[in-house]
Amino acid sequence: MVLPPGMDQADFNKAAEAFRRIVGDQWVFLGDQLTGYEDPFPVTSKESSRASIAVAPENVEQVQAVLKAANEFKFPLWPISTGRNIVFGGASPAMTGTGILDLKRMNRILEVNEENGYALVEPGVSYFDLYNHLQENNINLWIDSPSPGWGSPMGNTLERGMGYTPYGDHLMMQCGMEVVLPDGDVVRTGMGGVPDSKMWQLFKYGFGPYVDGMFTQASYGVVTKMGVWLMPKPPGYRPYMVTFEREDDLEQIIDIIRPLRLSTLIPNAAVLCNNLLDLAITTTRDEIYTGKGPIPPSVHKKINAEHKLGMWNFFGGLYGPPDMMEVQWKYIRDAFSQVKGAKFYGADDRKGDPAFEYRAQAMQGIPHLTEFSVLNWYGPGGGHIDLTLLSPVTGKDAVTQYQMQREYGEKVGYDYLGEFIVGWRDMHHINFMIFNHTDEEDRKRVYDLYERLTIDSGKLGYAAYRAHTKFQNLVRDQFAYNDYAMNRLQMKLKETLDPNGIMAPGKAGLWPEQYKQFGKGRIS
Ligand code: ADP
Repeated sequence: MVLPPGMDQADFNKAAEAFRRIVGDQWVFLGDQLTGYEDPFPVTSKESSRASIAVAPENVEQVQAVLKAANEFKFPLWPISTGRNIVFGGASPAMTGTGILDLKRMNRILEVNEENGYALVEPGVSYFDLYNHLQENNINLWIDSPSPGWGSPMGNTLERGMGYTPYGDHLMMQCGMEVVLPDGDVVRTGMGGVPDSKMWQLFKYGFGPYVDGMFTQASYGVVTKMGVWLMPKPPGYRPYMVTFEREDDLEQIIDIIRPLRLSTLIPNAAVLCNNLLDLAITTTRDEIYTGKGPIPPSVHKKINAEHKLGMWNFFGGLYGPPDMMEVQWKYIRDAFSQVKGAKFYGADDRKGDPAFEYRAQAMQGIPHLTEFSVLNWYGPGGGHIDLTLLSPVTGKDAVTQYQMQREYGEKVGYDYLGEFIVGWRDMHHINFMIFNHTDEEDRKRVYDLYERLTIDSGKLGYAAYRAHTKFQNLVRDQFAYNDYAMNRLQMKLKETLDPNGIMAPGKAGLWPEQYKQFGKGRIS
């Protein structure tokens, strides 16, 4: 049992009682009932991010009332939607003792508009829920799901997550929010500010300062409704894979991808991944190599041949009428053919290949849980924390990041399993840092590696787009321009909107005055 820092048991009990009166006894959780809110892959220890209580309101009015009580008792609360943000801390808070504001009961799909291609959802709606709803009602719209797909459009969009279809940038495809501010006021953003607006889910920007982004990766409010644009089901879909033989092909591949993506000949958030990430879907490291140190090139060669893989493997999708896809394919194929040894595959060529099949699903927005298989790479106890650096879509940057991450990892005994997800003008370089989360030594090793990579990449101008709760201060500290001017601005907003510091202390490394001892890092 933990308490919020600085709070005594008597005040805690009073607050818990107030929460019970609002949401009902059965929707306030304590003690053993809180195990579901623990970080499944802790990098320090489970104790370091334990919640004191969880409160699950049923509707907006209850959220307002819970926040009112939280202000009264100065009780810190961490909002979650489905709490599946597992690589980044799961449902657990950044600060031990924070309560969880669990929004799972608010799980209505309020509207799906097929004509205009959008849905309006509450926090507890998962990708599977939305996908099933569209299927069951024969609605010709696709969702865009991250990997794995058990989380929510709300939580993932608020974390600025990615999927793999042409609608892969989730925040770009978000339109209109309803937010309960820390003082209980309810705001509808964008055109939602107009009573009975006909445009809330159709036009993002509204009038005056555009505020939606302020509620993402933030602690400025609880988002209770969100508009999500959905892609009309295209008349045709063709997933494809291109394999590249040599590790050194990376620079050329990325420089080929850039103009194709900028011109939208590659229309989706396509992925370039290394061979080990693909292999880890079906294989464990021991099945490939039991020696010490990095897997030797001869072994890579052998397993790549066996699995029809390259050192790098590109997965893309074509969408549209068949004749249009055929023309696009010609340009894409010609471009990648410049890389010596490039091989091309369609769905028929990769039948029965789980690594291809789950990517093909992801690129048409079918949620799946396949990617969990990679956790078995080193054996039982596998977890991962992803290093999520952003990279320009240029070969040189990709090579710099890749080499650094591979070398640093190998030095301390880890393989590089990674992918570049190609956005509009950036790549999300995801390094799946797999480790044994049940082993204290391994946790320390991966923690140190993440820290060193973040700091040294920062010196080269690279930073992460998202981070585990235990690394929020570290990543915040990379944004140091003009003596941390951005942090000062974010803190001014924080102090104005949340003067009692009740909302998600530590999110994005923003710490209210009373908890500022936890903001340890370069700027506190
Ligand atoms: P998912 O289950 O969809 O992967 P989570 O529910 O774990 O996502 O949410 C991810 C993070 O986003 C949370 O830790 C929290 O910081 C933030 N968040 C989630 N839902 C809300 C919300 N409704 N309002 C404000 N912030 C939220």
